[in-house]
Amino acid sequence: MARISFEYFPGRSEKANNQLEKTVSLLAQFQPEFQSVTYGAGGSDQQGSYDAVVAMQATSGIPTASHLTYTGANREDIEAFADKLWEADIKRIVALRGDDRAESKNTPFENTPEFVAALKACHPFEIAVACYPEVHPKAGSIKEDLAVLKAKQEAGATSAITQFFFDNSKFYEFVSQAREAGITIPIIPGILPIYNFVKVCEMAEACGTYVPEHVYEAFANGAICGSSDLEIASELLKAQVHDLAYAGYEAVHIYTLNKVPLAKVASEAFIEAHQALSHQRKVA
Ligand code: FAD
Repeated sequence: MARISFEYFPGRSEKANNQLEKTVSLLAQFQPEFQSVTYGAGGSDQQGSYDAVVAMQATSGIPTASHLTYTGANREDIEAFADKLWEADIKRIVALRGDDRAESKNTPFENTPEFVAALKACHPFEIAVACYPEVHPKAGSIKEDLAVLKAKQEAGATSAITQFFFDNSKFYEFVSQAREAGITIPIIPGILPIYNFVKVCEMAEACGTYVPEHVYEAFANGAICGSSDLEIASELLKAQVHDLAYAGYEAVHIYTLNKVPLAKVASEAFIEAHQALSHQRKVA
């Protein structure tokens, strides 16, 4: 059965938060397993994140996870925030180091596994962590990345969500290396819809994500044929999630960018692929 989760970021204005509420309510039709809200590094967006997580869970009834980062924060504040989440019935955390853009590089934890263990010691949260099919830009090697991921698992993480990728073969290879390295927790593919191809290419470069030739070609050919970027992005997304479903993946985590159209396309395509697969199994 297809399992979907959606990622959102807190709005920066009342208008943006109203828009977010509408998006969450429209995407609720896909009965997400959970939804999550990002958290600004250095605690810059702490209150906005907290308010969004609590409001989203209360209005949608969907289990909602708070992302939480430690770079540039102090331990007392983090533990107080974790207490506040637990008291507000938020039982899931996506635990992260945090973007290096944080002005202060103070770090209250030696590493992310230590952070995961500290959160678990606060309350029995369900903790997801991040992982990188194409290697984190700051990691020395895939071996180092996998050792950190394994340590996060040992510290109590129960799932890992990937950085976005466009070449599924890189994800499949990563999962197989992770399994060989003794990582047994579910690895959920993170899917990024392309609303703005130029921006996505910049992000991909910063993250070390490979943009395959067929993606460039799709946008170049689309421009010649008069297809809109949204149509091109829809076709690419459908193909990507279809391939994941046929490769046996039951869950996807969609980076919604707080927008409905492409998250809807990806969800529908993923669910349809699973329904077709289940039909084929019944017929066989
Ligand atoms: P770790 O697990 O600590 O590290 C991952 C790998 O990168 C390891 O190999 C580690 O050795 C290496 N590494 C990372 N940073 C360094 C460093 N400074 N020096 C040396 N090696 C390093 N960021 C936010 O601020 N807010 C969010 O809400 C947020 N959500 C995210 C959600 C997902 C699903 C993903 C994939 C990323 C998210 N990020 C977010 C970005 C994340 O904080 C960065 O990718 C960060 O650099 C690494 O975080 P991590 O927890 O994976 O790090």
